Amino acid sequence: MKKYKNQVEENENFRIARNKAERAAGTRGATSGMAGSGATSGDIAAVLEARDQVGETAQSLMAQGVVAPKASRGAQVSEVESGSIAEELGIMPGARLIQINDIPLRDAIQLKMADASEKISLSVIQPNGHNEIFDIEKDAFEPLGIGVDAELFDGVTRCKNKCPFCFVDQLPPRVRNAPNLRRTLYVRDDDYRLSFLHGHYITLTNLSDDDYARIIGEKLSPLCVSVQATDAATRIKMLGNASAGDIMERLHYLIDNGIQINAQIVLCPGINDGEQLDKSINDLTTLWPGIESVAVVPVGLTRFMPPDRGMKTVATEQAQTILKQLKPHQKACRARFGARFVYASDEMYLLANEPLPSAAFYDGYPQYANGVGLIRAFLDEIKTLRRQPVRASHIATDAPRITMVTGSLAAPALRELAGALNEKNIARAQVAEIKNTFWGGNVACAGLLMGEEVLRQLKGLDCGETVFLPPDAVDNQNRMLDDITLRDMSTQLGATVRCDATGPLQMAELLRRN
Ligand code: SF4
Repeated sequence: MKKYKNQVEENENFRIARNKAERAAGTRGATSGMAGSGATSGDIAAVLEARDQVGETAQSLMAQGVVAPKASRGAQVSEVESGSIAEELGIMPGARLIQINDIPLRDAIQLKMADASEKISLSVIQPNGHNEIFDIEKDAFEPLGIGVDAELFDGVTRCKNKCPFCFVDQLPPRVRNAPNLRRTLYVRDDDYRLSFLHGHYITLTNLSDDDYARIIGEKLSPLCVSVQATDAATRIKMLGNASAGDIMERLHYLIDNGIQINAQIVLCPGINDGEQLDKSINDLTTLWPGIESVAVVPVGLTRFMPPDRGMKTVATEQAQTILKQLKPHQKACRARFGARFVYASDEMYLLANEPLPSAAFYDGYPQYANGVGLIRAFLDEIKTLRRQPVRASHIATDAPRITMVTGSLAAPALRELAGALNEKNIARAQVAEIKNTFWGGNVACAGLLMGEEVLRQLKGLDCGETVFLPPDAVDNQNRMLDDITLRDMSTQLGATVRCDATGPLQMAELLRRN
């Protein structure tokens, strides 16, 4: 492996001005090396291969000035891995990464691609203000060893819709100089990069030609798309956006250009159920295998929902009707494609008071992160745990005392887990089911628990040594929705409060280690 450090110091403003001038004059050619593909680390090889097939990429289009990069101040380096290329080059925490291969750095996808590439040119402003350019040759997939402070350096792309069921409209208003909910809850993001990186659902209503060029050029696939309805008038109504009706054309375009889609239908009674639901599924079926799966999830409503919107929750009988309605579609798709294609979320089964299907029903869980099959997978892990031997080195009274906190949706599954942990002498476990009094409506998921509500409802309960909160109950700074931190909670409860148990087997492993 060879590495070159080609250090140039120059004034930042001068460099940016020079780049602009060169771009305007058309003298800056297509870049090589990183040449624009992006992917999660798992499928970068496939993406690179696809990139080669695509030929001209969005990165190179950007370099030619065809695709205008969004304004970005680059990425702040938060961490430099010991022994890494970045450390060897002297890139310091606090430095700012400005460009890769002369392309302004907009997001973490570009950095992932830099890790995958053999040749890159990296423009950095060091903490002392000096601008340095490093020309690097390295092995493909050898990471640079740079951690950054964010993933979108040019800001998140906002949504242009006005869905009547929007969760942001169902939040309490933010009040100046008062405790508020986590700020990011109020952001109406509709950003294809978050869809690619984290499976956020996007609507395809705000994509520019440049965005399409990048998605296709860099093969940012799969994407998750909120379809809601394929009928133009229904979708326009549901998204509150007159230009939202051409969803099939947009999906076709992406799929024809090699992008795979997982789709979602947020089911709103009286709007996109009944015949509309049949039509949407039938239309989406025509796009298989470009559309891999469709999830049908019930709309979530809180007590803050403006009453004039006329939105209704999915009642038990409606949930039963929907499950029944999906069955012939699932049967037909299974016969044609070898997979059921359309799946109801776990919440739909719970609302219908119907048993969850087996793991085989979910055909590999294509919409697991969207709450489709999550509880089935959780229960199956408990079965595996139950097949393990009893922890012989422990007598039952030695096992740590723990409390598992959850919302009412997952409480029955958590009680199963507590039973298994107790049987195996892994823990003396109890479940604290927190009643949703803050949100009202039909909100029952554990990820929306409020710290204050948890503290109030655990008051007076002997929680044991450790309290486990659901893993999605805190942000990356260990803060709950109302800014109460795990540390605050630990102090107030007199127990260690943690959030790092992601499933039954992993929790058993954590407890065995401690
Ligand atoms: S697309 Fe999402 S964020 Fe935008 S209005 Fe609809 S529900 Fe709200």
